Amino acid sequence: MGREQQGGLFLCLDGLARALKNWCDSRNGRRKGRPIGFPTRKKKGRAPDTCRFTTGAIKVLPDRKHIQLPRIGVLKTQESTRKLARRLDCGTARILAATLSRQADRWFVSFTVEVERAVHPSNKTSIVGVDVGVRNLAVLSNGAPPIPNPRALEHSLRKLRRVSRELSRRQFGSKRRQRTRYRLARIHARAANLRRDALHKVTTNLATEFGTLVIEDLNIAGLLCNRRLARALTDAGLRELRRMLTYKCHWYGSRLVVVDRFFPSSKRCSACGWVKAKLTLDERTFNCTVCGVALDRDLNAARNLAKLVADVAQSGWETRNARGVDVRPSFAGQTTIKREAGSGHRPWKASAVGVQALAPTIEMASGS
Ligand SMILES: [Zn+2]
Repeated sequence: MGREQQGGLFLCLDGLARALKNWCDSRNGRRKGRPIGFPTRKKKGRAPDTCRFTTGAIKVLPDRKHIQLPRIGVLKTQESTRKLARRLDCGTARILAATLSRQADRWFVSFTVEVERAVHPSNKTSIVGVDVGVRNLAVLSNGAPPIPNPRALEHSLRKLRRVSRELSRRQFGSKRRQRTRYRLARIHARAANLRRDALHKVTTNLATEFGTLVIEDLNIAGLLCNRRLARALTDAGLRELRRMLTYKCHWYGSRLVVVDRFFPSSKRCSACGWVKAKLTLDERTFNCTVCGVALDRDLNAARNLAKLVADVAQSGWETRNARGVDVRPSFAGQTTIKREAGSGHRPWKASAVGVQALAPTIEMASGS
């Protein structure tokens, strides 16, 4: 009994410490995102069923089918633990924590692992612009077939409606209600899995294939305020795509350039540089009235993004600066000016993950 309480106490303390830190950082502005509230107690049935172990015997057993956790003991895993076990055996990984969690009627254990990963300097020189969106998850500037959006949630909406209705008719506390609850949860879990799978495939392909990826910094939270677009946008998981690209580009030695959200990638003609004043969302084809080019809207945007960085890479001193050795400050006033509505002045900047110096150099390019 005593030991049990102590074990439980340690688990709480780690969680409490992290929750308090998040709360404190959020209050002091050290943490991005939505404000974090003061930690509250978990409640069974309301909070997610999850538990994190940071101390004690966390082991991957040598048969590669079992793991050992403190207080719980040996558990059989559905998947082989081979990849992790190999890394542990040759000493390139160290387990920091194990988290048990439930998704629908399945239990998962995930390990937080410190891994020594060889980051190879990239010799890939190809530059590609990636336009992300709802219709297609990604459209590449090199003319490759667009990567379709799986629309995982949209495809399961019919089922979700039916099962939700069924659940609402079930009696509280009954076994059948519990069964229906799990069925509903499984549909949601499946949609999430399909989405995650598609995002992983896209981002791994992009990060391994190209040397430089150019994407746009989208104001997703702002777009979500549009109630006609919100569901489709969340279904696409665009923020997750960006997050995955960021760490995968780091892993595979590619460069990720994020272009400022006020760069007119869709409104600009990728052939002659003319900027359209107005472009509605249902205009799927970009028609240039100056040079007469007609292109798919997303392809046009992707080409603009690629061109932006390709222009910078061609000229001399910018690339020297872009290595990050001699970082020149941005031109005074240019990056800090907010875009004024209707003024026609669009100061925008680009930032690269790991390459800070790109911002001033791309501003040079914009003047031309
Ligand atoms: Zn044109």
